[in-house]
Amino acid sequence: MSCKKSIAVSACLLGHKVRYDGQHQANLIVVQDLSVLFNIIPVCPEMEIGLGVPREKIELHQQGDDIRLLSTTQPVVDLTARMLAYAQRFVERHLFAGLVLKDKSPSCGVGNCKIWDKHGHMQHHADGIFAATIMRLKPGLPMLQSNELGVESALQSFVQRVNAYAS
Ligand code: SF4
Repeated sequence: MSCKKSIAVSACLLGHKVRYDGQHQANLIVVQDLSVLFNIIPVCPEMEIGLGVPREKIELHQQGDDIRLLSTTQPVVDLTARMLAYAQRFVERHLFAGLVLKDKSPSCGVGNCKIWDKHGHMQHHADGIFAATIMRLKPGLPMLQSNELGVESALQSFVQRVNAYAS
């Protein structure tokens, strides 16, 4: 039996054509290096909640104290509950010791996703709904974003933390 740890990875970083525009964001460090070190669990939360390819963009909106995940279609569809439920199911169904996520995505980003108001003005930045839910359910889980993959020290630290993490 393999003693490699498993990590969950945004599927677009593995070259899967799951982005809203039908493209991928393949990253060689993920595809070539992390795939050797770890078992990879690909995940595209937007596909998993039933949004197809291609699809309209989705956005995070501030509504009172809440951040909601909304479609950009008319009528607007609130996708927040679906995304929260999927993230919860994902944690229940998979054992993983780390997470590599595409930055700036309203689903996968961490701390760098644009939050809009109802007038279309950007208010601030926060976490994507899938990423935020996973981090809440698995506090301390090693996490790396795609914009950190090229930083050698961040990558090494992630690998060490995954290997030390009791999943
Ligand atoms: S960033 Fe996340 S939700 Fe968007 S295409 Fe990649 S895996 Fe799917």
